[in-house]
Amino acid sequence: MKKLFALAAVAAAAMGATCAQAQDFPGSKPVTIVVPFAAGGPTDRVARDLAEALRKPLGGNTVIIDNVPGAGSSIGAAKVARAAPDGYTLLLNHIAMATVPSLVRNVPFKVETDFEYLGIVNDVPMTLISKPGIPATNYKELAGWIAANKGKINIGNAGVGSASHLCGLLYQSATKTEMTPVPYKGTAPAITDLIGGQIDLLCDQTTNTTPQIQAGKVKAFAVTTPKRLALPMLKDLPTLDEAGLKNFQVTIWHGLYAPKGTPAPVLKKLNDAMKAALKDPDFIHREELLGAVVATDGRIEPAGHKKFVIDEIAKWTPIIKAAGVYAD
Ligand code: ASP
Repeated sequence: MKKLFALAAVAAAAMGATCAQAQDFPGSKPVTIVVPFAAGGPTDRVARDLAEALRKPLGGNTVIIDNVPGAGSSIGAAKVARAAPDGYTLLLNHIAMATVPSLVRNVPFKVETDFEYLGIVNDVPMTLISKPGIPATNYKELAGWIAANKGKINIGNAGVGSASHLCGLLYQSATKTEMTPVPYKGTAPAITDLIGGQIDLLCDQTTNTTPQIQAGKVKAFAVTTPKRLALPMLKDLPTLDEAGLKNFQVTIWHGLYAPKGTPAPVLKKLNDAMKAALKDPDFIHREELLGAVVATDGRIEPAGHKKFVIDEIAKWTPIIKAAGVYAD
């Protein structure tokens, strides 16, 4: 009996300490956002802009980015799923949270149950781009060039299960073509190789491609959204749907996550800080310049975010299965 009381006292003390820590959060300790792709790419860019915008609402604390690339985001996501649930380690990931479970076998975490959902940050269109040297100047000519070079074309991606991988697989399925996939740890190194001509094609977020299109370093042929984009630089690009690939649509979204079990008061502080960051005019402006749209709808709340991801899993699983685009 004595032992039981002692155990209860230890548990109560531990709980008290956890509650006190939760009340103090974030204190003066830095918060780390794990980015599951290489530095300098589109997910990294959103995370770094968000980190900057989070600093003030998190009481001036430093927000550090930890790039943990590999396996189309699964390595970084698994690291956060296993991290201490204290609010100091977060994950910023994109649509891979909804597509990895059906694109990759043996995912080392459970999307629905291993995370706390903090909110969706933004939506980002994708663009189909090529290395600079190809003869095509519009989508029709690109399709002709692809057909004329059957079996010779390669397409970069950020690893099995990544957004570029998904987009490339869906594109090949829709056009009944086969290309050689070239995996990278993110689309920052992929676009460098595209510019250098080591790879032929890439489908990637506008947050990565817009500056390179603008600088004339790559050629852009189409966007993956249902409507053309308003961004002056990209407004003349056709949608893949209007270019003949009916219902071809891929829009990337980014969301913020904490490990399962993070205390509710900490989650509330993080969600409040995220919502304040999403209203930061500098953050909004930076995102707009690159074609991203900062979220303002119900998905910025934890419940709305989780429902959205579950809906996205339900939406993408049959599309991925129907397209027969399993990764392995
Ligand atoms: N855009 C990449 C992808 O294809 C990820 C990245 O490097 O941010 O998933």
